[in-house]
Amino acid sequence: MNDLKLSDLFGVNVFDDNLMRERLPKAIYKKLHNTIDKGLPLDPAVADVVANAMKDWAIEKGATHFTHWFQPMNGKTAEKYDSFLSPTSDGRMIMEFSGKELIKGEADGSSFPSGGLRQTFEARGYTVWDCTSPAFLKEDASGVALCIPTAFYSHTGEALDKKSPLLHSMECIQSAGIRVLRAIGDEATTKVTATVGAEQEYFLVDKRQYQQRKDLIFAGRTLFGAMPPKGQEMEDHYYGSIKEKIAKYMRDIDVELWKLGVPSKTKHNEVAPAQHELAPIFTTANVACDQNQLIMETLQKVANRHELACLLHEKPFAYVNGSGKHVNWSLVTDTGKNLFSPGKHPHENKEFLLFTSAVIKAVDVHADLLRLCAATAGNDHRLGGNEAPPAIISIFLGDEITHLFEQISQGEEVIEKGKQMMEMGVATLPQLRKEASDRNRTSPFAFTGNKFEFRMFPSSESIAEANTFLNVMVADVLNEFANRLETAEDTQKEMEAIVKETYLNHKRIIFNGNGYSNEWVEEAARRGLSNYKTTVDVLPCFIKEDSIALFERNQIFHRSELFARYEILLEEYYKTLNIEARTMLDMVQKQIMPATLQYTTQIAEHIIALNKVGVFEVNAQTELLQSLTTAINTLKQCTDQLHQELEQSTHIEEAYDKAVFFKEHILVDMEALRQVADELELLIDEKAWPIPTYGELLFRA
Ligand code: ADP
Ligand code: MG
Repeated sequence: MNDLKLSDLFGVNVFDDNLMRERLPKAIYKKLHNTIDKGLPLDPAVADVVANAMKDWAIEKGATHFTHWFQPMNGKTAEKYDSFLSPTSDGRMIMEFSGKELIKGEADGSSFPSGGLRQTFEARGYTVWDCTSPAFLKEDASGVALCIPTAFYSHTGEALDKKSPLLHSMECIQSAGIRVLRAIGDEATTKVTATVGAEQEYFLVDKRQYQQRKDLIFAGRTLFGAMPPKGQEMEDHYYGSIKEKIAKYMRDIDVELWKLGVPSKTKHNEVAPAQHELAPIFTTANVACDQNQLIMETLQKVANRHELACLLHEKPFAYVNGSGKHVNWSLVTDTGKNLFSPGKHPHENKEFLLFTSAVIKAVDVHADLLRLCAATAGNDHRLGGNEAPPAIISIFLGDEITHLFEQISQGEEVIEKGKQMMEMGVATLPQLRKEASDRNRTSPFAFTGNKFEFRMFPSSESIAEANTFLNVMVADVLNEFANRLETAEDTQKEMEAIVKETYLNHKRIIFNGNGYSNEWVEEAARRGLSNYKTTVDVLPCFIKEDSIALFERNQIFHRSELFARYEILLEEYYKTLNIEARTMLDMVQKQIMPATLQYTTQIAEHIIALNKVGVFEVNAQTELLQSLTTAINTLKQCTDQLHQELEQSTHIEEAYDKAVFFKEHILVDMEALRQVADELELLIDEKAWPIPTYGELLFRA
């Protein structure tokens, strides 16, 4: 694709700032920007004009419908389409889209997860225009529609989605950030924005094979599958050359995303066979969140066109790496500063020292919340595995920055190390400076030069919550700092004291070593860091008194909203396991058991046939028959056990008790059932095995 084409394509389906400038009267454009840039309330008169301009543009581009596009608490996106048709009093039809329709829509709040916040008899929910994220056109075989990013509230004002808390949290970081900057003498900055770039990992498999696997269809991951002869041990897939079929798919993805204004930038093969990654260029947190939803949707939609299926699950296959989503997070100002950029002289860089200290404290104090927002049934299979960050939260700062904070905290004079050059010893290669820190791939939360990379995050989830939590946690500490700085007699001294104290009190959270090692697990325990191994272990942290206080103090969630969200997360956990368990039973009863019985009969008939012609040397065959019948018995026992415990689970009322039961019983039964089924797969003729194997799924797309 040459440059000209890319520039023609980029953003053609977005009602972006250029279009608004072109199509809106100057005064309206300015008023709208007061809301987008300065966070001022939206003037209702603006909405009518904007709606009309949006509609004209959308209709020119072939749109027939519009939808309020929102992000309910199931972590997906939701949409309901209305056409632009509107009857006139003289019986004609005109194309209309009013400011009222732009600003507010209605949706039945009780049909989305609400954790008991909405009763069906008072189910009204409202979608409200988020003018800080641009409207866009979705086009597919079914037509073109105008999509308006919205937040979703109940009619009593509780947030029913993932977006509203994120928007609130961005206001928190804005005001706390500005307070700190003002206190240290920065009068120029008027805006502090959280920026985010989310790297998305995914798997691609052949669509026909996908369709033959009920586990992939219903659960998004394989629930059975013996280890194939080859896994990822040759380390030949990461950055490997991309197969033509996959390259074509990726190109199509780029085009689709570019049209939507999503700046898809990097694509490559990942560590596991059939695993890939896509990274966009970062943008403001709420837009990044919308864009990540569009990326996930597009990856799946386009796969279908290419006879592929895209798996976003955290652990679609055992034995090889799972998928994560690296959430890169930073704070930037409208004066063009990145507040985590150390600059040439980090020890003199007040913003860097204060804002980095705030992150260190926030992550230490609220590590549980960070762990919690990465907790899902799917991610439980990945975290703590030997390829993913451990379940223990820590920060990688890198040797240079850690050394800097050490020196400051000891009251030592900071001596700058000059930039060193890399020694490559080949004269024809260009000279390179050494980076301040090496990569650390084993840290769940790594400082990467001018941003933090939250690496624990699950691949399939909305990034809204992670960003909300980060913004609020850090804003809370920044407000504390601001309280001290604003009342200090000597701001410089106070600032130094804050940096020093914060580091000394919270340095236990910093760990630059190998996060995958067992020594770290022990060391972390000695440091008093928490280690929540599973989702069920960590979810109750949501409703701890200090979490409630944090969210209430910053006006993100009321107590009732937190309890509701806690309930939803518990439900999501056991419902996921329930679907997986039922899928396993279905596959065993309807596919694996019948195939096994048939094959066993074949072996028995084979022995009888040999005996008939006088061959009685059939030890190998009888042994195989014996192994098969033993496995069949175990398969039956495991199925019965799972069946029975699933039945038992239906009698448990409390969501938390139910989640614990699923973790302690159902999951264990599922593992036992899988083990015997996988043994059977290895015993049986591949032509007789009823579902595509790992070898076929991972190596043939
Ligand atoms: P890495 O190689 O360290 O993963 P990249 O530069 O490739 O880093 O960036 C990874 C992701 O981080 C990309 O999506 C990128 O846009 C994003 N990113 C870079 N700078 C920032 C920033 N200041 N704030 C948020 N995200 C950022
Ligand atoms: Mg990365």
